[in-house]
Amino acid sequence: MLSLDPPSDKKDLSFAPLSSTTSTSTTNTEEEGSGTYKERKWIVNESNLMQLFTRCPQCGQTVIDTKKFSFGSLLRVSWECINGHEGSWNSCNETRGMADNNLLVAASTLFTGATYVDIADWAACLNVQIPQKTTFYAIQSSYLIPVVDVFYKEQQAKLLEDLRLQNVLQKGANLSGDGRSDSPGFSAKYCTYSMMDDVNKNVVHFELVQVTEATSSVAMEPVAFKRCVDFLLDSGLKVDVITTDRSPSIRKTMRVDYPRIQHEFDIWHGSSKKCCQLQKKKENQDLQPWIKSICNHLWYACLLTEKWKSLLHHICGVHRWTEDGRRKECDHDDLSPDQQRRKRWLKKESPSFRTLSMLVLNPSLLKDLRQMVYHSVLLKYCRKNLHFHYSSMAARTQLAVIDHNENVNREQATTSSGKYTA
Ligand SMILES: [Zn+2]
Ligand SMILES: [Zn+2]
Repeated sequence: MLSLDPPSDKKDLSFAPLSSTTSTSTTNTEEEGSGTYKERKWIVNESNLMQLFTRCPQCGQTVIDTKKFSFGSLLRVSWECINGHEGSWNSCNETRGMADNNLLVAASTLFTGATYVDIADWAACLNVQIPQKTTFYAIQSSYLIPVVDVFYKEQQAKLLEDLRLQNVLQKGANLSGDGRSDSPGFSAKYCTYSMMDDVNKNVVHFELVQVTEATSSVAMEPVAFKRCVDFLLDSGLKVDVITTDRSPSIRKTMRVDYPRIQHEFDIWHGSSKKCCQLQKKKENQDLQPWIKSICNHLWYACLLTEKWKSLLHHICGVHRWTEDGRRKECDHDDLSPDQQRRKRWLKKESPSFRTLSMLVLNPSLLKDLRQMVYHSVLLKYCRKNLHFHYSSMAARTQLAVIDHNENVNREQATTSSGKYTA
């Protein structure tokens, strides 16, 4: 995500355990991050820290007075020795009057999709000092949201420029649109409508509409959709095809407002329904006990198309297999011989398995899973059960788009055994 890299494992390995008698010297790489967000930070107990302030660094005499001042994550210790020397020490740098670590606490919270409440509970439990709620939100609105906005707009400008270049080659853009309400049903407060470029799978634009801007919460989607299309057309983009779900209001908007753009329908929205219909045919009856698991798996698989496809091995009772020369395995724990025996695995040559294979490997569905991947990222930054103010919601959606676009064409990390990392 963005630019907050966690410290690499390599560095941890170089750390000598307490029992070791050899002293570890600080390597240059550890100093490189000094003063930046990359610098390592430690949880230090206050009593241990204060042990450093017993002797004067100038004359070595006893320190007779120490004063502690704190603001959020910043701790300042000022001291005075028996000979009248004075000094003060800060636990982190300050930039234009703000403790860097207060900014970093707020940034790493927002940039990882967490909320203040999440980290405040964690910090209170451990008694780690972090900024107060008001400071946190002041930092968020004064610094973080504007920075996210700038980054999002730069990324979008570049993506649109690339698409316009394709236009010059007589190729109009093919886009897929999908809307999301923050809560299901009629009480939704926001609708986020996003447009994805079908070729590179980048999200090229989104519109966030509040319920106050539409006649009802269901009416938000066509409003957001139309704003998306208008924005893209106004930015000089030539669009050939837009794929959406079969929502009647979107169909009408396409027909009335954009008759020159070809309108296609995606398969995703019908797929879970199709799963349930599969079992209705008599010849597919042995699928029946599996339907619920398949629907769950479809959702889980939005993390990765590969995971979705692995279903075809698991359902036949095969949990380790080789694909494209790489060893793959299911994510679940090993089944006991008893569990393996009792499950009603499908036979590879059965009609049920053939029907299921056709559904699982359907190229249009696999394409739609890409949209799902984006929606799962969106969920990370904008959890549906939480209420956000408009500016936070917009920034969080921008973060999800940035995150998705930065990672969409990157290979998913795998371990040597081919198991996907989370
Ligand atoms: Zn002194
Ligand atoms: Zn399995």
